[in-house]
Amino acid sequence: MQVRTRFAPSPTGYLHLGGLRTALYTYLFARRNGGKFILRIEDTDQEREVPGAVEKIYASLAAAGLSYDEGPDVGGEYGPYIQTQRRDLYLPYAQELVRRGGAYYCFCTKERLDEARAQAEKEGKTFKYDKHCLHLSPEEVKRRIEAGEPYVIRQNVPTEGKAGFDDLLYGHVEVDCSTLDDNVLIKADGLPTYNFANVVDDHLMAITHVMRGTEYLSSAPKYNLLYEAFGWTPPTYIHLPVVMRDATRKLSKRYGDPSFEDLLDMGYLRDAIINFIALLGWSPRSEREFFTLKELEECFDVEGLNKSPSIFDMDKLTWFNAEYMRKLSFEEFYELARPWMAKVLDPARFDLKRLAELLQARTEVLNRIPGMIGFLAEMPEFDNDLYTHKKMKTNPEIAKQALEAVKPVLEGVKDWTEQGLHDAVMAFIPETGLKNGQVLWPLRIAISGLASTPGGAFEIAYLLGREETLRRLDSSLKKL
Ligand code: GLU
Repeated sequence: MQVRTRFAPSPTGYLHLGGLRTALYTYLFARRNGGKFILRIEDTDQEREVPGAVEKIYASLAAAGLSYDEGPDVGGEYGPYIQTQRRDLYLPYAQELVRRGGAYYCFCTKERLDEARAQAEKEGKTFKYDKHCLHLSPEEVKRRIEAGEPYVIRQNVPTEGKAGFDDLLYGHVEVDCSTLDDNVLIKADGLPTYNFANVVDDHLMAITHVMRGTEYLSSAPKYNLLYEAFGWTPPTYIHLPVVMRDATRKLSKRYGDPSFEDLLDMGYLRDAIINFIALLGWSPRSEREFFTLKELEECFDVEGLNKSPSIFDMDKLTWFNAEYMRKLSFEEFYELARPWMAKVLDPARFDLKRLAELLQARTEVLNRIPGMIGFLAEMPEFDNDLYTHKKMKTNPEIAKQALEAVKPVLEGVKDWTEQGLHDAVMAFIPETGLKNGQVLWPLRIAISGLASTPGGAFEIAYLLGREETLRRLDSSLKKL
């Protein structure tokens, strides 16, 4: 059997991280099993569609490196892959279902349904359609359709017994039919609902394995009734637990949680995000933490999936990202870091390449770069207390002494390079009777205004250049 999986997003906006994880697992499952990965756009709920969202889905999957074998923009034998482009195909299947007793036409007006809904609410019950139209004779149905009366087609769920299905992760899931509603399969506008289209399309596209969020776990028994009514074999289901932000709340854009796109924009690396997302609910059952997409394709398995919800820990993602930053070649890092550095520093004035060398080991996320280097563009305000450092044995008084002594040395440096600065200052320190730290710590503070910087005094002095370094030194001395 050829494994065929699909990712079936609705174009309602950005690709959220839970969606990305579903796409990733679905992709990995197909790749691991030598199968096909299909993209299908589920856009039959036109009211929820957001313009541009389909293009965003293509772009996000491409950015994630999840290439699909079939899909709207790549074609395939089972197309079209956009449900609204398949619109005429669903009605005949619904009609077939009516003939088989699994569905029926319903002409109930909105008013009648609203009334019934209000009544149910008053009685504290969940609304369920009362099968009012189930018993219309075929002749009456025909007459009303021909007269142009609007109608929907509803699933005819048995009133008794149980409906169930087998999930690879959750085992046998069963519900009482009495709890199920006769959902609409074909809407008054002729389009199918998700409930119907996903079943028809999974069947027609020969999908063998369906992975999706657990929010569909409770509807799946109902879908199984449809498969049974058609006499089709259902796919193997693997529902995936939700991704939580913390112990109490789901990850959600509404609360400002980032989408995949947001993370990329912030300067998280694709490979770090994918690695981190892969481990949100799947475990290799070893201590191993680092996986490339290629490696995941070779080892991903359903046995490693976890049934309990996983927590999206931003700090952990940041940790992964920092590790991936360090793994980049310098050239790769420089390429990525340059635009972030150029946001605050004029490339014509600063040696950004040297700065990137200093940054690579300490950059956790690219968007933190401007904050780390802004002091080069503009001297921050600082308090003289910053000169106090126990280990370095410095305080404002010693700083004043050290800076006054080192000033003429710097003024005399001919070769304004890190090495030139280093050699001149280090040769001079013994003459002052001070320890290295008692000169270098104050110098760094005096020209950067910060206790923590990428690089030390010589690197900063080199990056700032002679004029700016001496200017900063002067004004810091005046404050002492
Ligand atoms: N269109 C559904 C969604 O975006 C897909 C559910 C499924 O994979 O069956 O949630």
